[in-house]
Amino acid sequence: MVRLLARFVRCESPTGDKVSVDQMARIVAREWRRRGAKVEVLRQKLRGDHVRAELWLGPGRPSGQILILGHIDTVYPLGTLAKMPLRVSRGCAWGPGTFDMKGGLAIALAAVDALKEVGLRPRKRLVFFWNSDEEIDSGTSRQFIEREAMRSDAVLVLEPAYGAEGRLKTARKGVGTAEIKVFGRAAHAGLNPEAGVNAVHELALQTARLMKLNDPHRGITVQVTVTSGGTVSNVVPDFANAQVDLRISRQADAARLERKLRGLRPILKGARIEVTGGINRPPLERTPGVVDLFRRAQGLAAEMGLTLDECFAGGGSDGNFTAALGIPTLDGLGVVGDGAHSPREYVLIRSLPERAALLAGLLVAL
Ligand SMILES: [Zn+2]
Repeated sequence: MVRLLARFVRCESPTGDKVSVDQMARIVAREWRRRGAKVEVLRQKLRGDHVRAELWLGPGRPSGQILILGHIDTVYPLGTLAKMPLRVSRGCAWGPGTFDMKGGLAIALAAVDALKEVGLRPRKRLVFFWNSDEEIDSGTSRQFIEREAMRSDAVLVLEPAYGAEGRLKTARKGVGTAEIKVFGRAAHAGLNPEAGVNAVHELALQTARLMKLNDPHRGITVQVTVTSGGTVSNVVPDFANAQVDLRISRQADAARLERKLRGLRPILKGARIEVTGGINRPPLERTPGVVDLFRRAQGLAAEMGLTLDECFAGGGSDGNFTAALGIPTLDGLGVVGDGAHSPREYVLIRSLPERAALLAGLLVAL
């Protein structure tokens, strides 16, 4: 499994670099073809290609479909591997994308190998979907994921597990971004400042107002994260803008929050505001269907002598899309490790076979 992981990690695949991600897609597609899957490479113009691998191991006809999701892209720009090469030491494998989530890709292949080796057959058709653009917004893959989810009885997401004990993710926040543009009027900061309308001042006032939309109790967070404005130090700025990170725990709060954003009115006389964007990933809510999937995974883990817990994650994944369609979705089934999106990214090697076995068990049990 480490060799397989190494092959994936050594192919750098930043979301924005189509040539690299396409290469990664070819490597992944080849592994699935070798295992007898019906593989389709979904060609994309702008982003990297997606890979869909369908596998039916049984005789007769499948009694349904299970969708297994993961992504082949990473957040690391080309050349990162030279600075943080793949390294195996002290029971860990370090390197870009090991944890998020090339380890998950290796787990899926190993789970299928294991099923074949011991002759266990899932009752359902398995569809593995590996998209190329999860780390940006899944803009070109969302439609495929949703279409496939609608045909599935359950969705298993191989995003990394949470914490050293490898918790599964049974709830995730919905995520979005808004942009606020503030228009003022330029003037000389010394000669006639009163003739100007300071857009940076207006943005500061709006920022204070936006921070009041936070409601930790309801799981709503609003953070102004990137701002800019002004031109030179002696000019009253006529423009400022901000990006705002939005998160919600309940879909019911999306429209309310977006309405509040659209309803922002200028505070300074003569200023004008434009607000765009909103929630683009719905929350993964902990429905009874999700809890049922989790309990089954927990039972299988117990048979393996492992304790398995659940958690609530602040970040989103493609599981958010499938859960929002009402398809029971279990996330965080990937590897155990830490340091996603950082120079300290690693996986615990002993978790690789454990998680592969857990996934194989689920594929047979569902
Ligand atoms: Zn990920």
